[in-house]
Amino acid sequence: MSYVDEVIAQVIEKNPSQPEFHQAVKEVLDSLRLVIDQNEDAYRKDALLERLVNPERQLIFRVPWVDDKGQVQVNTGYRVQFNSAIGPYKGGLRLHPSVNLGIIKFLGFEQVFKNSLTGLPIGGGKGGSDFDPKGKSDREVMAFCQSFMTELSKYIGADTDVPAGDIGTGAREIGYMFGQYKRLQNRYEGVLTGKGLSYGGSLARTEATGYGLLYLVQEMMKCHGEEMTGKTVVVSGAGNVAIYAIQKAQQMGAKVVTCSDSTGWIYDPEGIDVELLQEVKEVKRARLTEYAAARESAVYHEGRGVWAIPCDIALPCATQNELLIDDAKQLVANGCKAVAEGANMPTTLDATEYLQTNGVLFVPGKASNAGGVATSALEMTQNSERLSWSFEEVDSKLQNIMINIYHNIDNAAKKYGKEGNYVVGANIAGFEKVVSAMNAQGIV
Ligand code: NDP
Repeated sequence: MSYVDEVIAQVIEKNPSQPEFHQAVKEVLDSLRLVIDQNEDAYRKDALLERLVNPERQLIFRVPWVDDKGQVQVNTGYRVQFNSAIGPYKGGLRLHPSVNLGIIKFLGFEQVFKNSLTGLPIGGGKGGSDFDPKGKSDREVMAFCQSFMTELSKYIGADTDVPAGDIGTGAREIGYMFGQYKRLQNRYEGVLTGKGLSYGGSLARTEATGYGLLYLVQEMMKCHGEEMTGKTVVVSGAGNVAIYAIQKAQQMGAKVVTCSDSTGWIYDPEGIDVELLQEVKEVKRARLTEYAAARESAVYHEGRGVWAIPCDIALPCATQNELLIDDAKQLVANGCKAVAEGANMPTTLDATEYLQTNGVLFVPGKASNAGGVATSALEMTQNSERLSWSFEEVDSKLQNIMINIYHNIDNAAKKYGKEGNYVVGANIAGFEKVVSAMNAQGIV
């Protein structure tokens, strides 16, 4: 058995009931075969892949809090500090009822390669809880966040581990967590990113993941002789990533005709009205039915279905495993030219393969959504400098980072004879830097 297959088998055996983690490891290690197979004995002797797939530290803790009725609730908190070879652990906190250790590990593992691709000095980590902020009062959210941070604060710090937002963790939650960290540690430092502008946040961080996604897509289209103007785009999700992806796509002259949330989706042939979407989702925290009620051209459907709408470009921006093999077939049949992931691992492995073998340009999230964490790293730099940069300065750095990521993954794919395979390109380019740092630091 090859070394790669041995390690994939070990991961499945030692981490039962963690299918998302298996999926992420398999995707990465499969594309690293080209590199590993050439030097298998050396990698095996150093147990390099075992060290790569085993997190440096995994924290699981109890999060008790009191709800508005006086009832004590107990959630589980997680922080997986996956790899610090190239910098302090960095990665978001997900608050969603589906959160478990396997999901946090898959996200942390992906984050290692993504952070490496940004070219900035950040290691990989991820955390969160099965707490659901939906339907909770502000006081309940604060009670949860304070309890969560009371435990987490023992393990993080501006030079150790710097968490950020993710699904369910926006500016409100980051604010409550930052306040509690400061109170417990008596230190005002850049321990979290995604902070509000009045207390150390960076301009353009809110927009960064969605904008970055479009900067990369635009560069890729340009390199394939296409421009964004006039393109029809379908987007899933209606959260932070989706909203700013829609906004930037429209600024580039494309027409975005869909968005979705966890209960249904919108088809709006006139193009999504971003301001209305922001009002519904960011201000009222309401369902998409409210968007449809306020806009004549929009039709609301229950369930899922955005991938059935004909498009040139598809941008999955909601959650993992939301673009399945039948969706991929539909996209190909409708003439879709490119799929770029705004979410983390939204496309299943078979759907990815189908898109690639049918000539669709496919960019994995670890490259195309890296603008969020890259801008978080820029927020860390500003906090260390005790300075704030202008929106234009941050946005222009973000553009450069995304353009560089595209060329890095494109070049890495070409170097290994896999031109146009950006999954291989992203995994190899991310891996090379991490491994070189791990080797330099000895067996740790
Ligand atoms: P948000 O919580 O702001 O939005 C998530 C959106 O996806 C919401 O519209 C939500 O619906 C929908 N959604 C969530 N879970 C499901 C589900 N199980 N089925 C269908 N729809 C669902 O999160 P973000 O926009 O921040 O994150 C979206 C994705 O992007 C995640 O995969 C995240 O890891 C990834 N990502 C985020 C970054 C960031 O900077 N925020 C950076 C890089 C990646 P509803 O409104 O009903 O809750």
